Amino acid sequence: MASALTDKLSRLAKELRGQARITEANVQDMLREVRMALLEADVALPVVRDFIARVKEKALGQEVLGSLSPGQALVGIVHKEIAATMGEGISDINLQAQPPAVILMAGLQGAGKTTTTAKLAKLLIEKRKKKVLTVSGDVYRPAAIEQLKTVTQQAGAEWFPSSPDQKPLDIARAALDFARKQYFDVLLVDTAGRLAIDEALMNEIKELHRELKPVETLFVVDAMQGQDAVNTAKAFKEALPLTGIVLTKMDGDSRGGAALSVRQVTGAPIKFAGVSEKIDGLEVFDAERHAGRILG
Ligand code: GDP
Repeated sequence: MASALTDKLSRLAKELRGQARITEANVQDMLREVRMALLEADVALPVVRDFIARVKEKALGQEVLGSLSPGQALVGIVHKEIAATMGEGISDINLQAQPPAVILMAGLQGAGKTTTTAKLAKLLIEKRKKKVLTVSGDVYRPAAIEQLKTVTQQAGAEWFPSSPDQKPLDIARAALDFARKQYFDVLLVDTAGRLAIDEALMNEIKELHRELKPVETLFVVDAMQGQDAVNTAKAFKEALPLTGIVLTKMDGDSRGGAALSVRQVTGAPIKFAGVSEKIDGLEVFDAERHAGRILG
C-alpha cells in the first residue's frame, strides 16, 4: 500500500520511534489522517466513525511486532480492517439452485444494471460454461428493453422478449417458464430503476423477488454516487434480502469509498466491480486491492 496516507502516517510515526506500544496519545494524530483519507474517498460519515472506533480499539496498547514502528503497525491495522469490512477473500456468484438459477438485478436507474446484466451473462457463459437467458422487467422505458436485447446479443446470451404493455410479474413468470422448458442454467432478470427511491418501485421488485425466488439478488450501485450510495443501499436492503453487491464505474475518478459504506450498511458481500462500459468490463471484486485504493 504505497500511498499518500502511508507517507503521512510514516512521518507521524517517525516521532514515535523507539516506542514499543501504540498509545492513546500517539494514535490520535494518526487516526485523524485516516479519517480524512476515508472522508476524501467518500465513505459515509457514520461508517467512518464506526470504523475509526474499531481501529482505535484494535490499535491501542497493541505490542508493536518486531521491527515495525507504531506508524507502520497502525497502517497495517487500518488496511486489514478496511479489507475485513469489505469482506475477506473472493465471493463468487452462487448458482446452487434447481436450474434455472435466477439472478435478480436491483438498483437505481443509471446505476449500470442493464450493462452489468450482460457483462454477467458473458462471464457465466465463458467462465462457467452456462446457458444464459436474460429478460427485462423495465416496462416503463421501452428503450431499456431494447438496450438489454442489444447487450445480450453482444454477450452471446439469449434474450427473452418483453414489452411495455405487460406487467413485470407476468414477464417474469413467462421468462421463468421458458427458461425451464429450454433448459437454461441461468435466468438474469433486469428490473426497472427510478431516479430516486420510490415506494411503487420497491413494491414491484419485492413482488418479483417473491415470485422468482432468486438464488442471487444483486444490488448494483454506482461507485461515483459517493455519500448518497448509503441511502440507496439502505432502501434496497430494507426491501430485499440482498445476496451481493456490484460496484459499477470503478474506472472513474472515485476512490471507491462507497464500497465500504454499502458493504457496512447492507452486510452483503461485494461480488463484482464494473471497470468499463464494454461488455467484458466486469471484474471479481478484490477487497485487499480495493483497500489500498480507498486509502489513496
Ligand atoms: P441502468 O439504468 O441501471 O440499467 O444503467 P445502464 O446499464 O444503462 O448504465 C448507465 C450508463 O453507465 C451507461 O452509459 C453504461 O454504459 C454506463 N456504465 C455501466 N457500468 C459501467 C462501468 O462499470 N464503467 C463505466 N465507465 N460506465 C458504465
